[in-house]
Amino acid sequence: MSSVPFTTADYTARMSRAADAAAEAGLAGLLITPGPDLTYFTGYRPTAITERLTVLVLAPGREPVMIVPKLERPDAEKAAKDAVAFTDWTDGQDPYEAAREHLSPDGRYGISDAAWAMHLLGLQAALPASGYVSLSGGMPMLRAVKDEHELARLEAAGAAADEAYHGILKVPFAGRREIDVAADLAALLIEHGHSQVDFTVVGSGPNGANPHHEAGERVIAEGDTVVLDFGGLKDGYGSDTTRTVNVGGAPSDEVRAVHDLVLRAQQAGFEAVRPGATCQDIDRAARKVIDDGGYGEYFIHRTGHGIGLTTHEPPYMVEGEAQELVAGMCFSIEPGVYLPGRFGVRIEDIVTVTDSGGRRFNNTPHELGTVH
Ligand code: ZN
Ligand code: ZN
Ligand code: ZN
Repeated sequence: MSSVPFTTADYTARMSRAADAAAEAGLAGLLITPGPDLTYFTGYRPTAITERLTVLVLAPGREPVMIVPKLERPDAEKAAKDAVAFTDWTDGQDPYEAAREHLSPDGRYGISDAAWAMHLLGLQAALPASGYVSLSGGMPMLRAVKDEHELARLEAAGAAADEAYHGILKVPFAGRREIDVAADLAALLIEHGHSQVDFTVVGSGPNGANPHHEAGERVIAEGDTVVLDFGGLKDGYGSDTTRTVNVGGAPSDEVRAVHDLVLRAQQAGFEAVRPGATCQDIDRAARKVIDDGGYGEYFIHRTGHGIGLTTHEPPYMVEGEAQELVAGMCFSIEPGVYLPGRFGVRIEDIVTVTDSGGRRFNNTPHELGTVH
């Protein structure tokens, strides 16, 4: 069940679309450095991201050119040879001088968020009149709309994470440390085809009230409510799902009520998904349910984030993000309530925008799970 490989035509189309979008945004071009952006545009993933400058220059009306260290040129050419032109620099040479001839001296460029500061500073020194904006800030939609092959990968990653959830319901919780359950979750993600595990949050009892608690030495007890949030990359694309479970299956009335509220908030966020709605509409829809339920002050993060080649990327489902949803976008809807010192509840699905609404890539039961 391997997915359809991306082709040179795919990469070429992505690069020319991005160059056009850069021009529309008033930029001289885009500077793409190793990481998810370079993978997206060329398929090239250097074996190590190092201090040696590698940068792809995308400029409207010009052939894409990748500036690479000479010793890495064969690898880069192997990955991307039909889609871009290459130029190289050797150790002992100034890479920023090498890059200079491909850039306009007073151009304003969008640059990958993941570019090392030393590279940006080197470019600024070589081209003192140039200017830069971050890609996520300047062009949040650059990788946001997925094609059918990307959607298939994200759907498969979601299904694999769902399998991991079914698996984790069968392992013992009571009497074991959070990190032991987290290790089980990581193993399940790998077993179901993930190549990389990005996070395995096991927030038991009071630790569940910290949304980014990972997992620690706390020994899980009977009666605890446990937030399980896990994901990573499968076939290069991300999964990210959260379910909340109770150890022993006899939760307090308050845990039950809070969980029901978060479940209804997650559903309201999902039902707000349609082309033309805005990112902040999704946040508002979910937040309204929790506000109306009286727990608004305990929902302390945005409702969601984009997902694709990484597990967290723009645009964000947050107040102030007026970007309209477009069919093919994929993002999380993950409202939560966090009661300090007591417990937390979060429910998270990855959702894609369809022509008529939304479709979930996570389909395990949303109800409070029971573990033992
Ligand atoms: Zn997060
Ligand atoms: Zn998550
Ligand atoms: Zn998430």
